[in-house]
Amino acid sequence: MPLPSMRLHGAKSCTAKSKRTGLPCNNPAAYGSRSCKVHGARKAKSIKRGEQHPNFVHGGRTLQAQAEQSAVSRRLQQIEDAMHLLGMTTAKRSRGRKASGYYKITSMDEIKRMLDGM
Ligand SMILES: [Zn+2]
Repeated sequence: MPLPSMRLHGAKSCTAKSKRTGLPCNNPAAYGSRSCKVHGARKAKSIKRGEQHPNFVHGGRTLQAQAEQSAVSRRLQQIEDAMHLLGMTTAKRSRGRKASGYYKITSMDEIKRMLDGM
């Protein structure tokens, strides 16, 4: 339960959720950050990313590298859709979660649009 004064003055509350119960933390967020002192309050500009992060090793897991990997994966999944639509293969469809931004290719117009985007 948040403090009554928090509700009155519109203070932000911590965005962390309990691993055990799934309920939000409800402590007041520290000044300039999204979470409370218990849940690692840091200002967004002080959070180190990319090569500045102390755990940076090879750069294969940076946000940029993951986005590029996702784009390649999405493109491959859509090429597979196009191959099935054109009757180029009878192989089983690949399983699993599709990449973000994926949409199923179901018509020739979408194949042309996909090829224009490459
Ligand atoms: Zn918290």
